This record gives sequence, structure tokens and C-alpha cells, in this order.
Amino acid sequence: MTQTYFQKGFNLKATVAPILAQSYASRVVDRMKALGYVAQAGDITLKLAREFGFCYGVDRAVEYAYETREKFPDRRVFLCGEIIHNPDVNGRLQEMGITILPDSKDPLLRYSDIDQGDVVILPAFGVTVAELQILRGKGSVLVDTTCGSVLNVWKNVHKYAREGFTAVIHGKHYHEETRATASQALTHPGGQYLCLRDRDETAAVCGFVRGEIGAEALRERFAHAASPGFEPEAHLARIGLANQTTMLMSESLAIQEMLRAAYRDRYGEQELAQRFHAFDTICSATQDRQDAVLTMLEEGGLDLMVVIGGYNSSNTQALARICAERLPTYHINEASCIEGAEVRHRPVGAPDERRAEGWLPEGPARIGLTAGASTPNNVVGEVIKRLLGLRGLDAADLHAAEPEVDGR
Ligand code: SF4
Repeated sequence: MTQTYFQKGFNLKATVAPILAQSYASRVVDRMKALGYVAQAGDITLKLAREFGFCYGVDRAVEYAYETREKFPDRRVFLCGEIIHNPDVNGRLQEMGITILPDSKDPLLRYSDIDQGDVVILPAFGVTVAELQILRGKGSVLVDTTCGSVLNVWKNVHKYAREGFTAVIHGKHYHEETRATASQALTHPGGQYLCLRDRDETAAVCGFVRGEIGAEALRERFAHAASPGFEPEAHLARIGLANQTTMLMSESLAIQEMLRAAYRDRYGEQELAQRFHAFDTICSATQDRQDAVLTMLEEGGLDLMVVIGGYNSSNTQALARICAERLPTYHINEASCIEGAEVRHRPVGAPDERRAEGWLPEGPARIGLTAGASTPNNVVGEVIKRLLGLRGLDAADLHAAEPEVDGR
């Protein structure tokens, strides 16, 4: 039987490696790393987080997409939505003739154009169970790039559902990964889920658990974020926590503690283990990037932060949130956002891009840089070049930072 499902690429790593390096590597970033992640040029100091940019899951997904194009040069190749949330990477894949299918609440509609023999790449954050079934039914060739860390979350959700626990997912209910994760719970008889976005939503659930909020109010509030037929009294009797892998670690831990305390209040310590399970499913790449930026902020000596990544990239938003608590922070999605005295950026929590003037100090400026897990080095390098260009400098002017500046 002809194989139609691929999860491990096509053994074409050596073929696509030079193309990937040419597209996504950056000499400027390499230079920054060689200089110890801190460099000066003129009166600008740039400091790069020790962990930033492409994670292992994204690296793998992008590589498989390139391998897929090589393997099936004559077939129609589709991507279920953006492979990752980065406009540069998605644009390059489209230039290779890969069609990105627009998002839709109706999977039948979304895949209506797919025929037998077409090749469909599933993104790093996975697809819902229903979508996978539709694609399998069509006889298309599936290249599954779902990240191992996402599969690990699914494993936990399956375990919860098998044991009669409702999966409570800290994530954005509309995000592809969270939708895919939530759908796993429904593959078990009686499986249920509830998505919680933040502390505020968690407080409402805690209020219900403690008897302060009624079931009807809770049902209404979470109608968009809970499984069909969700009944708070029955389905919050036993819960298991999971996360969208790219959420803010500190918030996930806070949510876990809030819920644990509410269940302890309601059922007592002796019943807690039968009522409340929690596994931290934030992925290590997300954690490493958040830890690195926190370290950089702790070290101090910076005037502002530039956070680079797609505006709909959850882990980039989390990095921007961390930075914005300490420093003026500009979340930009590409180098062209920097327009001299003005910058186009998306402030934390804002629905769209804004313009800021006078964002860069006139004299000496100490700029911290980080990038989300879906941001390739070439984009980071372009941003660095653009920043240097504002002062008539270029990458060749970068040199090791003087000790009194580094670590101030
Ligand atoms: S952010 Fe984490 S879960 Fe998502 S693709 Fe990267 S490694 Fe995988």
C-alpha cells in the first residue's frame, strides 16, 4: 500500500539545508553571538537574549515543508494555515508554490478544494481531530509536522479524559494549538474541556468551585471556550490542567495555584489528589526564551526592548509582556517596522499596530533584543541592521562591548 502519512520528513535534509541556511541564517546574528551576545557600534549598544528565535519544533516543521516541496515537485502542496506565525517564513513558502489554506470554523469548507493525491502539510501546532479525519478521508498525502511538545500535551489530555477528568487548558481558545489540544479530549466517551485565557477567567472558575458564582453564569461566560454540553457542576468535579505550550510560564503557574487553592477549599486536602491534577506542559523552548529574557532584564543597563515576531505569535506576545513590565517595549513583526524616528509596533494587549515617535534615545542607546520561537535569524539580523542604519552604521561597525556597559 502506498504510504500517505509522513511524520519524519523525507531524508532530504542535506538537499534542503543549503536553501534553509541561505533563507534563514544571518551573518549579523552570528557576529552578535561571536561577540558574546552584546556588541557596540557608535553610541548604540545591542544586547541579544541568550535564547531567542527558532525553536526545535519550528526548525523541524520548516525543514519538512522544504523537504515536501522537493519530494513532490509536481503535486499541489497545501498548508493547513500558517506553518508558524511568522510572515517572512509563510511568504517564502508561498513563493515556493505552497498554498496556505485560510482558517475556517468549518473544516469541510476549509478542505473543500483538496483532492486525492494533493499533499497537505500539518503545522507545528497540529490540527483538530476532525480536520485530520477529513483529510484522511480525502486520500491526500499528509506531512505531519506537529511538534513533539504539543503531542506531549495531547498525551496528558488523553490521560485526563480516560480517567474522567475535564481538561482545563491554559490557552487562547481560538489558537490553532489550543483548538487541536481541546479536540483530543472529545475522542473519549464523556471527555470534556474548558479553556482559560488568564487569571481573570481562572478567578471566575475558582468562584464557581467555591460556590460564589452560579453554574449558569459560568456556562454563559465560557460558552465559546468549553466543550459542547459542558455542565460546570458535573464537569468541574475533577479537572486536569494543561497549557498551550507557548503561554507565559509565570501566568500558567499562577493559574495552577489559584485552581489548586480553590479545590482545596472546596474538597479539603484529603480529596485534592482525586479532584485536581496538573502537569506543566509549557515547552522547554518557550521556557528557555522566557528565562533568557528575564535574565537579561535582571542584568539591567538597557533603555528599551525590541521584541521581534509575528503579531499573532503567542510566545512572542509572552516575551513582550515580560519585557513591558520593566522597560519601554516595542513588539515589531519585521525590520520595516523601524522607520527612522518612528516605529510601528504592537503594544502589549493592543488589538493592532500603533506608531510611536521618539522611541529611540537621541544620544547613547542601549537596546535589548529578543525574538519569538517562530522568528528566523534573518529577520533578527535585518532588525539589527536597520537599528544600526538609524545612526549611519552597519554590521561591520559592531565590536565587543566595553566591560562597564555590559552587565551594568
Ligand atoms: S514553541 Fe515549543 S511546542 Fe511550539 S513548536 Fe516550538 S518547541 Fe514545539
